[in-house]
Amino acid sequence: MSAILPGATIGILGGGQLGRMTAMAARSLGYRIQVMDPDPSCPARFVVDACFEGSWDDARAAADLARGSDVVTLEIEQIAVASLEAAAKYAPVRPGVAMMRIIQDRILQKTWLVKHNFPVGDFRAIHTEDDLQTAIVALGGRCFLKSARGGYDGRSQAKIGFGNAAGSPEGEAHDAWRLLGQRPAVAEKALDLEKEISVMVARAPNGELKSYPSAANHHEHQILAWSVIPSSISPSLETQAQEIARRIAEQMKLEGVLAVEMFLTRDGQLLVNELAPRPHNSYHASERACVTSQFEQTIRAVCDLPLGDVSVVKPAAIVNLLGDLWLDREPKFDRALAVPGVRLHLYEKHLPRAGRKMGHLSAIGETPEEAVHRVLQAKDLL
Ligand code: ADP
Ligand code: MG
Repeated sequence: MSAILPGATIGILGGGQLGRMTAMAARSLGYRIQVMDPDPSCPARFVVDACFEGSWDDARAAADLARGSDVVTLEIEQIAVASLEAAAKYAPVRPGVAMMRIIQDRILQKTWLVKHNFPVGDFRAIHTEDDLQTAIVALGGRCFLKSARGGYDGRSQAKIGFGNAAGSPEGEAHDAWRLLGQRPAVAEKALDLEKEISVMVARAPNGELKSYPSAANHHEHQILAWSVIPSSISPSLETQAQEIARRIAEQMKLEGVLAVEMFLTRDGQLLVNELAPRPHNSYHASERACVTSQFEQTIRAVCDLPLGDVSVVKPAAIVNLLGDLWLDREPKFDRALAVPGVRLHLYEKHLPRAGRKMGHLSAIGETPEEAVHRVLQAKDLL
């Protein structure tokens, strides 16, 4: 296998903010970039050489993208297997189809993790409303129901047993099952969380592997609100988290990057929540914190170049800017940018909607706490 050198063309399936920031890193390295996305004015549109319009299951569009590319990668896990296979006829697809098939289905993903002895919380595969009724009891009454396919940012999920719904537990299960469209799902025991962390790992086709120091992640309403690198967990937990992420990448023969989201429970267990085989919101701060950003690392990994140094140069945090901030008026960016160490990253999404990720603020600090404090202060000033 030989490296795909600058000047070559990289195809990205998906042109959202992750595709956009990956494309910006690729440009900076001297590559040409084309993306495929259902939306012709997607965020990556403005920074790439070509944009192919196509939905995630449009195998023809995926093949068109691949035909003019030296390598194809992706920024979203929900690309149909048939599209990935169609693309793979013309260019290497990294991460590969076999791994994507497992990851894009929560039932297959969790079953794979259990089979390979990775720690996960208690869960049940759900195919019928009866399965759900049984699972709720078996899982202790409180659980998260998540569609097997297609969810992100807490979408396609329902919380059951939290006392916020009227009626009986049976009624709540019935409503949740209908809300998610009566499609295959997993029910997960609701865990008592001390902290959420993630570890980004990169592996090149030549076998080189590097994992970033863990990030600590704070969610609100099941959407990532802010995140900081490094996470400040204990050295022994950090060792465990690194080992889990690296072993998953090795076992899956990852070609590209993979974010491993993990839960740290109040009783001290470290459990894998889910896998994301692409750049991840919780590593946006790597652009400020680390020698090599997750976006550059993605390019290095899929092009089979030497991987970049992942060490932390300075703690950095990010806070997401959701569309809600735009609903009354344009945010006061000038005020946020007056906070020392703060930068603004907007995705050029033209339609702000509640819950839609429009951009983020980042900040560096002498400590992780200072970075978080600054970035939250900047957001308050918007
Ligand atoms: P998404 O694909 O939307 O990121 P996740 O499965 O990561 O979905 O869930 C989003 C967030 O919801 C998690 O980061 C966590 O904060 C919360 N959550 C999900 N599952 C559980 C659980 N079993 N117990 C406690 N909190 C959970
Ligand atoms: Mg998640």
